[in-house]
Amino acid sequence: MNLLEDSWLPFLLRSGKVEYRPPSALADPDVINFALPRADFQGAAYQFLIGLLQTALPPKTHDDWLDLLMEPPSVNALDKAFAPFSSAFELDGDGPRFMQDLDSLDDVKNATVSGLLIDAPGANGIKNNTDFFVKRGRVEVMCDACAAIALYTMQINAPAGGAGIRVGLRGGGPLTTLVMPESSTASLWERLWLNVITQKEATQKGQQWTAPHPEEPSLFFWMANARISDKKGTEVLPDDTHPLHAYWSMPRRFRLLFEEVDECPCDICGRKTNRVVRELRAKKQGANYDGPWIHPLTPYRRDPKKPNELPLSSKGQPGGLGYRHWSGFVLNDEESSGAIAAAVLKSYIDKQKLVTQERARGESIQALLREARLWVFGYDMDNMKPRGWYSVEMPLVDIPQGQQERLRAWVHQLTELSRNIAWMVRTQVKNAWFSRPSDAKGDMSAIDNQFYDATEPEFFKALLALQQVLQQDTPPPHIPPDIAERWYFALKREAMRVFEGLALSGSQESMDLERATAAHRQLQSFLGGKSKGSKVVSDFIQQGDFDPSAKAKRNAASAATTTGDA
Ligand SMILES: [Zn+2]
Repeated sequence: MNLLEDSWLPFLLRSGKVEYRPPSALADPDVINFALPRADFQGAAYQFLIGLLQTALPPKTHDDWLDLLMEPPSVNALDKAFAPFSSAFELDGDGPRFMQDLDSLDDVKNATVSGLLIDAPGANGIKNNTDFFVKRGRVEVMCDACAAIALYTMQINAPAGGAGIRVGLRGGGPLTTLVMPESSTASLWERLWLNVITQKEATQKGQQWTAPHPEEPSLFFWMANARISDKKGTEVLPDDTHPLHAYWSMPRRFRLLFEEVDECPCDICGRKTNRVVRELRAKKQGANYDGPWIHPLTPYRRDPKKPNELPLSSKGQPGGLGYRHWSGFVLNDEESSGAIAAAVLKSYIDKQKLVTQERARGESIQALLREARLWVFGYDMDNMKPRGWYSVEMPLVDIPQGQQERLRAWVHQLTELSRNIAWMVRTQVKNAWFSRPSDAKGDMSAIDNQFYDATEPEFFKALLALQQVLQQDTPPPHIPPDIAERWYFALKREAMRVFEGLALSGSQESMDLERATAAHRQLQSFLGGKSKGSKVVSDFIQQGDFDPSAKAKRNAASAATTTGDA
């Protein structure tokens, strides 16, 4: 099977129908998404095609990029653009095979094909998302299409696996951040092309841009002998590779074994096929990625005080993903907090400048560049095994030129306040529940999550309000008092609501009213900025320049007026 020519990817059409077609179908305006049978495959399909567009049509400038956003190529034109790379995308046969070892690995024992799946440890280990692992039974047979995307998924996410089993270029189970059009009926072309960056943006420090070529082994490792990592000094560093290699990383050595069979259903997608994969060969000591890798679709973090330490990729966490992570995903801040936004997000923010220059080119393009969403997804890994799969969408805002730093500082103020209040809510719920709260065992992060979920809509309202303020000709130096006040009262209200729901609900058999009342009082005085540890609250009130008691007085006054009128 050739992954550029054959009809192996399931595409979702505007009509709701799913059609299997070659990658070039992404240029068909009727195609609006993929329809892969697993959530991790869906995320991988996005990365596969973004990587393919990035390789076959890498724009030189933002203007080149905008031209193709405005006027997408035809399916035919895209086929022509992909054709030169065809030799690197053969999944089987005697020559080089896509993301597999050039050697046939005859010296290792056959293993089952399920080894390609980053899969569940068992039902009790899976939280939150029951639909991630579509088929719970053992996977014994895969069609060639599922085997291809499973192979790609494994190579780009490869988790730790023990001695000699190499981890992915971004570390095991990294998060991916993509820019998505706001409209749910946007074409797949728009969804993908929003995530294509310029040649310069794709090139890391120490790398040299050259036109991508299918036989280039520093781009596609599988076109040459494996990069074996059996001794020191064999690590693969960014400087040794083509800038686009990050999209095609290959830490694992695999060889798929194809069989012709009587018609048989695939254990993943259920389609009947004559050509299946039941077994593979896997060998240790594949490419050992090391050094300062920065993958263009993943956010990183670096300690600004330790510039020599390697950047760390962001991973899924048991506590979930939410608005408190928004700033780190979107706003680059290498100097002070060490947050490195993915190149694709940095590029998107730079491209927003095109909106004003390109007014003549129509409203639709402005909307695309102005109204986009952030899509974050990835595994939540517990070393080798996934606990689950995250897929979260959040708004993106139009950040006026030169105002990114100010927005970052303001967002930081908002999230620091909610982080501290979340912590205090959890502490006081524990104080209400347990006589010795410090001995309380178990995961209490559900309390924080309840608070974050409840305050999320208000956060994005505040973010939008800040964006509008920053679009003024001379924005104020501080968060405007009305926005700060609204945020403070929303957090206070939800903090009390979450606390009361959990601590005072009376459902706890061992509820101790005295303890609960004391905890309630402590939370109240913290939220009022009046207790010992509540400097973060009183500072916020002071910087926000509003009077926390004024609102209560206003409310009382308006209640009195209403009564008077009646
Ligand atoms: Zn299948």
